[in-house]
Amino acid sequence: MWFFRSPDIVFGPESLDYLVEIPAKRALIVTDAALEKLGLVGLVTRKLEAAGVEYHVFAEVTTEPTLELALKGAEIARAVKPDLIIGLGGGSAMDTAKTVRVLYERPDLPVDGISPLEPLNLSQDVRLITIPTTSGTGADVGWGVVLTEKATHRKLVLGSPEGLADFAIVDPVFTMGLPAAITRDTGMDVLAHSIECFVGGWRNDFTDGLMIKSTELVFQYLARAVHNPDDAEAREHMHNAATIAGLGLGNAQIGICHSMAHSLGGMFHAPHGRLIGICLPYTLEYAANTVPENLAVLARYLGFSTDPGKEGAYALIKALRKLQAETGHPSSLKAVGIDEGEFGRDLPVVIENAFQDACTITSPRIPEPEEFNELFWCTYHGKSVTF
Ligand SMILES: [Zn+2]
Repeated sequence: MWFFRSPDIVFGPESLDYLVEIPAKRALIVTDAALEKLGLVGLVTRKLEAAGVEYHVFAEVTTEPTLELALKGAEIARAVKPDLIIGLGGGSAMDTAKTVRVLYERPDLPVDGISPLEPLNLSQDVRLITIPTTSGTGADVGWGVVLTEKATHRKLVLGSPEGLADFAIVDPVFTMGLPAAITRDTGMDVLAHSIECFVGGWRNDFTDGLMIKSTELVFQYLARAVHNPDDAEAREHMHNAATIAGLGLGNAQIGICHSMAHSLGGMFHAPHGRLIGICLPYTLEYAANTVPENLAVLARYLGFSTDPGKEGAYALIKALRKLQAETGHPSSLKAVGIDEGEFGRDLPVVIENAFQDACTITSPRIPEPEEFNELFWCTYHGKSVTF
């Protein structure tokens, strides 16, 4: 038995107008200070004002949100008493908002007690809206959240299907004019979600078609969005691609490209999408060397090759490298300035964390620690994976 879960998705230009239609008295907006400064929070508050909804803005979300931050947000929610909680931003803001919504109604729960195994029995009186402002994480349509424990710097993966947003509003207006580096990094994340979900151990009939489409959209529109930040058509399709790929993330799971990037991110603090983009071709080569079939199927759908085996899989990897070159994405860990001595010293911990990462078990081919060691070194030096 399996489930396919999704919020109601309102998408396309002017989909933010839908906010006015949602009956509410008081809203709590969970976001970060930069978005407030950029005026993007204003786009939302103006709609709320037009609808006569009171609001409070909690703009304290950081790039690595902590359990403590979510607790503070819940406390504010209990003071404000919103019937609408809006997560506005990237994955960090939306994950924090999802947690705030649960803790607001369930103050008895410890933050790390939010799990799929714990029935939440949330009331229907509070609605959660997610509004992504980058085209990347897909956190708008997933129920999982990643929060950091302040004292230990440990990243905890939490969440419950009951904490899924009621509506995801996917309006490209928030991404217009985003800088090239953010567009490229987040776009690589979308591509990794799409491909890893399509070839992973938990792929299923309900997500496969979606992943083909989101992969195709990235190949069609990412370079345009990177090179022309105001290309409205490219922005709209990339924004849709991120949410479509997010449905894969929530309903089929990802693989070792994410295990490696999570682990590297914990140690070297580079943006998630940048590390993802660097690891992706190497982890796909690793899969292609023994289980190329699903990659070849994807390559066939996208018109890169008709070969059903390794040649087909490699055609997809070649297209990925071409897209990375076109968009100026770095091709190795060395290229982003990670010191070789430091890398070698920290590698045993990085390998251990990657090996333990939840995304490793759902990979099409699971590396032993020695293979992880080789994979990390190939990714460091930009050397093809031949094993
Ligand atoms: Zn990701």
